[in-house]
Amino acid sequence: MIKSKLILIGNGMAGVRVIEEVLKLNRDRFEIVIFGNEPHPNYNRISLSTVLQGGASVHDITLNDLKWYSDNKIRLYTGETVISIDTAMQVVTTDKGNKETYDKLIIATGSNPFMLPLPGADKAGVTAFRNIKDCDEIIEYSKRYKKAAVIGGGLLGLEAARGLLNLGMEVDVIHIHDYLMERQLDRTAGKLMQRELEKQGMNFLLQKNTTEIIGKKHVTGLRFHDGSKIKADLVVMAVGIKPNVEMAKNAGIPVNRGIIVNDYLETGVSNIYAVGECAEHRGIAYGLVAPLYQQGQVLAKRLCGIEDDGYQGSILSTQLKVSGVDVFSTGEINERHGTKVYKVYDDWSGVYKKILIEDEKITGAVLFGDTRDGTRLLRLIKNGAKMEEYLETSQNTASVSNITADMADDEIICGCNGVSKGRIVEAIQTQGLTTVDQVKGCTNASRSCGKCKSLVEDLLACTLGRNYHASEKEAICSCTTFSRDDIVQEIRDKGLTHISEVMNVLGWKTDGCSKCKPAINYYLGMVNPLEYQDEKEARYVNERLHANIQKDGTFSVVPRMYGGVTTSDDLRKIADVADKYQVGTIKVTGGQRIDLLGVKKVDLPKIWAELDMPSGSAYAKGLRTVKTCVGETYCRFGTKDSIGMGIRIEKKFEGINTPHKFKMSVSACPRNCAEGGVKDVGVVGVDGAWEMYVGGNGGTHLRAADLLFKLKTDDQLVEMIGAFLQYYRETANYLERTSAWVDRLGIDHIREVLSEAGKVKELNQRLDEALSIIQDPWKEVIQNKTLVRDLYESVKVPAIIK
Ligand SMILES: Cc1cc2nc3c(=O)[nH]c(=O)nc-3n(C[C@H](O)[C@H](O)[C@H](O)COP(=O)(O)OP(=O)(O)OC[C@H]3O[C@@H](n4cnc5c(N)ncnc54)[C@H](O)[C@@H]3O)c2cc1C
Ligand code: SF4
Repeated sequence: MIKSKLILIGNGMAGVRVIEEVLKLNRDRFEIVIFGNEPHPNYNRISLSTVLQGGASVHDITLNDLKWYSDNKIRLYTGETVISIDTAMQVVTTDKGNKETYDKLIIATGSNPFMLPLPGADKAGVTAFRNIKDCDEIIEYSKRYKKAAVIGGGLLGLEAARGLLNLGMEVDVIHIHDYLMERQLDRTAGKLMQRELEKQGMNFLLQKNTTEIIGKKHVTGLRFHDGSKIKADLVVMAVGIKPNVEMAKNAGIPVNRGIIVNDYLETGVSNIYAVGECAEHRGIAYGLVAPLYQQGQVLAKRLCGIEDDGYQGSILSTQLKVSGVDVFSTGEINERHGTKVYKVYDDWSGVYKKILIEDEKITGAVLFGDTRDGTRLLRLIKNGAKMEEYLETSQNTASVSNITADMADDEIICGCNGVSKGRIVEAIQTQGLTTVDQVKGCTNASRSCGKCKSLVEDLLACTLGRNYHASEKEAICSCTTFSRDDIVQEIRDKGLTHISEVMNVLGWKTDGCSKCKPAINYYLGMVNPLEYQDEKEARYVNERLHANIQKDGTFSVVPRMYGGVTTSDDLRKIADVADKYQVGTIKVTGGQRIDLLGVKKVDLPKIWAELDMPSGSAYAKGLRTVKTCVGETYCRFGTKDSIGMGIRIEKKFEGINTPHKFKMSVSACPRNCAEGGVKDVGVVGVDGAWEMYVGGNGGTHLRAADLLFKLKTDDQLVEMIGAFLQYYRETANYLERTSAWVDRLGIDHIREVLSEAGKVKELNQRLDEALSIIQDPWKEVIQNKTLVRDLYESVKVPAIIK
């Protein structure tokens, strides 16, 4: 069968969703060509807010990678703009001179951000917040400047402002109305929201009309209608969007605000369809994804010749993706003549609920502080339900699960990613899913703001019945109910910077214990390596004193010997120090170093100064040693320079903090004399490559390492070790060895993550950032008289030894 040719203009959320639906219905019907003028494959635009707020990387938000396009035989042109459509000849032309004929054409060009035509709006430092480029630009500015202003106190402006705070900037939000998000909230909810966001550090200038952006070439401030001014190094405009319709208009396609479409997404010109933010259906151009995805389903059926009732319009609901602010609104939000109102307002705990009723039916709701009823209310409104039904189900404690059970299959559970109940249930049933994380991985539901997580859990519960065991997340210790993941997320979302702050904000039940304090200390340093000041008191005694305490109260000193190699000078120095300080025993360790045992605490700083060698970190939850075999220089079997590689790795990664101790080794041939099978990373030289083994452990929980990858060059190996190390740092529980971590995540998963070049690069960038501030701990102590006095002369060492 000869395929018809389907062209999509706009590689965004709505357009690609149509293609996904078409492929599901009939993958052989069309030859598909997509033009997108951004240089990326299809990504989740909604999650840009999360990227700005530090909860995801650009790489994490890709929805369909390039492999997806090639696997589905889609010809994708990125960074290419369609500039005209010849509707008579059915040809599109691009800015690069490409011409393509079509049988069917979908226009999904989205919207353009509305930039206020203010004097000075063209200055450097003024940006919109619409795509990855804007997001990158904002992040770059935040590294150089401190003061930001966001024009617009709507959904997007507030999410941008939260991101700017997380990026360490001071933020003024300028809004023309007297309360925030006036299109989605009423005054009471808007004011409650303001109160909450002020607590998070945002500053609001309400009822302010900006008249000028001040500065020479670069913005330096804003001037307002009332003559007042503020300083700003970065201005983010978030005042609205306008459908991107110019090209369609020029082609003679009927356009109002958006491209006019009927219930089947057909424009006024045959064989041309429009979907997404650029389309106008029954007078409405929607600006949220849930309706666009519904449109996508209808259009896909139309293109595949499947009967359908058509798109009937959507009832919208809104949530803000700002941690700590629970807000939901749907349908009507303001009372009209004849509207009845059900209202609950608890100013003390900041909970507000307003439900609007017209002709006895629920027509809208605004919830603040407790949004658990949101999905239920949305459904009741869609079904034209009466208020009594809401009140009845509110009395019934089992009702929340019943709601998901009663929902129709096409109802949307995850608004961010447009995932319906039917899709999730089907995935659970056909793929044997049992956890929210698996549902997330398989369907994208709950992958963005995460607010639908409880609904996904309900769906798992009602689909699996008795076989579902809610994954109770384990609290890190009995001082809190928060799990490791929640704590790391809260540190990122709320920009927490101290252990006491984490405990205060997250409502710790105690003053912390020897389990949670070191863990929080590690997580804070891992999330913000550059800003975080290590809290030494939270470390176990060995790490606090940079030497291992022995059972008689003395300490051991292990100088670093890169790759297990030393010199006669160093050996002489070690011998002299051992004599002078009457070191009890000199022992060679399992990691090929020399251990001076039986040193008095008060002598530690003096010994370190006299040795003048870096700390071997034999006490650290960090990189310990890189054991090496003799390799090609001396061994008859060696084909590689294992000593050189061991030294290179040890020098690069020394001093880095990890969730637990981290040991490596390098052997120059498969005889594996440096015992890579029981190391966190064991490297083995083979013909023309290095094999990298991970997750080995020779201690109490014996585990043989898994082969992760074979790397061709030295540089590739070092890069992969960096990525592995950082991925472990970012995702392991504190005190979890790589052996347990690899078992928990699965070697296939880790291999898959590290197969992506972009991810490897990003992980290395973050690791390099953490490495950039590392100092040798012994040197630090020697140079700091107060530390010497407080830690090594007067303070008593507690008896707990970890
Ligand atoms: C920061 C941010 C946060 C958001 N948060 C939410 C949220 O929480 N919930 C929600 O529901 N919605 C949210 N939205 C809105 C949501 O992202 C949009 O509604 C959705 O992306 C619109 O999809 P679309 O396909 O119509 O347009 P887009 O996703 O914008 O895609 C259109 C694409 O077409 C390209 N294009 C345009 N013209 C041409 C041309 N001539 N040739 C080739 N390519 C072209 C554009 O560059 C773009 O890549 C958010 C938006 C932003 C920016
Ligand atoms: S691993 Fe191979 S090269 Fe290294 S010492 Fe053993 S036999 Fe020699």
